[in-house]
Amino acid sequence: MIIVMKAQATEEQIQHVKEMIREMGLIDHPIKGSELTVVAAIGDDRKKDSNALEQAPGVDRVVPILAPYKMASLETQPERTLVRISDECVIGGKHIPVIAGPCSVESEAQILESAHAVRAAGAHALRGGAFKPRTNPYCFQGHGEDGLKMLAAAREATGLAIVTEVLTPSEVDVVSKYADCLQVGTRNSQNFKLLEACGKQPRPVLLKRGMAMTIDELLQAAEYILSMGNPNVILCERGIRTFENHTRNTLSLSAVPELHQRTHLPILIDPSHGTGHARLVGDMARAAVAANCDALAIEMHPDPEHAWTDGAQSVTPAALTEMMGTLKRVAEAVDRSV
Ligand code: PEP
Ligand code: MN
Repeated sequence: MIIVMKAQATEEQIQHVKEMIREMGLIDHPIKGSELTVVAAIGDDRKKDSNALEQAPGVDRVVPILAPYKMASLETQPERTLVRISDECVIGGKHIPVIAGPCSVESEAQILESAHAVRAAGAHALRGGAFKPRTNPYCFQGHGEDGLKMLAAAREATGLAIVTEVLTPSEVDVVSKYADCLQVGTRNSQNFKLLEACGKQPRPVLLKRGMAMTIDELLQAAEYILSMGNPNVILCERGIRTFENHTRNTLSLSAVPELHQRTHLPILIDPSHGTGHARLVGDMARAAVAANCDALAIEMHPDPEHAWTDGAQSVTPAALTEMMGTLKRVAEAVDRSV
């Protein structure tokens, strides 16, 4: 970190800051400019508390230079992480897998029909919520473990791996028993006990960005999972809250190149929650591929008009099939494949 002294800081105050840095086990390196002095603290300061330095007399501000996320950082691991959900769904390499399916598992027939449509469209894994995080307590909350059994039946019938959400630490084991990849939703992205529990189980984790979360906070949330021993984390941008109300959220596509410059973890884009409108999903999916995302998650329902949840943003099987064709062409242009 760098400690920037105030212009009027005295020699004693600078000396005191240097002593504090040494007491922290770091090396102090003052740089005197014509207007002010900065003191660089050299060494791994990620576990050091800079609060006392910030409060020290004569200090203007403390600027971190090492990322607060150690394991997620590109500084620590320059090679890209490959997350393997199944043989056909490996995320982080040249191939960009598409995970598609309904928002919620409604019935065995609905999830089977969806899974066959996902397979026929040429997508690579099946999504569907059995435990649903609902804003309103009176809305459908998901079928719970019965829903997981329906997903397992769909996997059996089609060979597609399943990605499904887990809501609470106490349900991690049951979801991990059925799923090939656990999803942590936007509303739970800073539920640190849930992140830790996901870090202690063996399945990959799809971590969605909180709707009001900064990129640094997303990376620190991923760090909770990584630091518990699970290296298989996929980051998901699914739109953030802004003043804009034509779309359900604002899909921050610049998060893709920005994250790629900070972390080795793969980045998935969810244009369905990112826009809230089926009519916008195809264009944003193509834009995400052009921006070099590593995977896509698309909500698709056999009958969107009658979907129990998120029908407005769910594409039809025909639209998904058409989209897959155009995604392949965009991917080729950026030296990737779908
Ligand atoms: C979902 O994937 O259906 C979901 C609830 O997503 P999010 O957490 O991004 O709202
Ligand atoms: Mn949904």
